[in-house]
Amino acid sequence: MARPARPAAPPRGAAPAHLTKKCPECFAYLPLEADVCHACGRPVGPVTPTGLARKPFNLKAYLAAAAAIAAFAAFVWWGFFSD
Ligand SMILES: [Zn+2]
Repeated sequence: MARPARPAAPPRGAAPAHLTKKCPECFAYLPLEADVCHACGRPVGPVTPTGLARKPFNLKAYLAAAAAIAAFAAFVWWGFFSD
């Protein structure tokens, strides 16, 4: 008796599998074309394979983090390595 064949996995790059996406901040369901979450007001990106919306790149946050790291490094140099 032959085993039933496994159902074929959907091909990669086929039609999008999601009809909605979820806000990564508050998990509200959003339409795929939404740019801003209607529940929390945060910007959201395109849908990921898991169904969440991608977080858009936040240049200001990266610059703030780099400035904070640089300030901390300068403080350590001033506190421990300068005479
Ligand atoms: Zn949200």
